[in-house]
Amino acid sequence: MGAVRILYVEDERDLSQLVSSHLKELGYEVDQAYSFSQALLLFQVKKGWDLVLLDLYLPDGDGLELLKFFRQTESLKRTPIIILSARSGDMNRIKGLELGADDYLEKPFSLVELSLRIKKVLARAKGIEKPREASTMTYKLGSHQLVIDKLKREALLDGESISFSPMEFKILLALAENEGTALSRDELLAAVWGDEGVVFDRTVDAFIAKIRKKLGPFKDCLETVRGYGYRFKVEPS
Ligand code: CA
Repeated sequence: MGAVRILYVEDERDLSQLVSSHLKELGYEVDQAYSFSQALLLFQVKKGWDLVLLDLYLPDGDGLELLKFFRQTESLKRTPIIILSARSGDMNRIKGLELGADDYLEKPFSLVELSLRIKKVLARAKGIEKPREASTMTYKLGSHQLVIDKLKREALLDGESISFSPMEFKILLALAENEGTALSRDELLAAVWGDEGVVFDRTVDAFIAKIRKKLGPFKDCLETVRGYGYRFKVEPS
């Protein structure tokens, strides 16, 4: 295992220098790109990284476009990406997260905060990679069948597609992937949004209620764990 390789896209050179030398001190390998086009050029050479830090305002392009490109690129599809931007507000944050960023840190940020976020997304990426299980999960309850298809992002109840919103699906998937284990509201939020601040705990409860309704005969498999969170457990009858 070599050092964790990071691509840092940032046009403010002073900031880039400061952050990069801090990260290098922590043992990371850092490639600095000062523009959109330089990031693409570096990609031609390096082919991939373990983590990308991305500024949104670049002199020759929009960081979100770069994010889209990375997410469509095989070697970077699953690479954690943290947006570092002066753009504030939940809309920008949500837009970035929807386009596939793993976290969003507003400028100005502290170096300590940044290194904590980096550790967090790297740990999460590792956790996701670890169990290379099948992409579909199938549950049976009496004559009913529930299939959760991770790759297609779809759930089927007795062969019929359930119309989950993306958020509802993510919550169900997080619970199903940890079947039998209770997840706290915070853990569910982290699994779904990867960051605090976008929604409140109560929102999780609202999502759970909607998911339950759509699960039909499987609704009781989504258990409430008092004072903690939720658990998904299917016990064949
Ligand atoms: Ca900038």
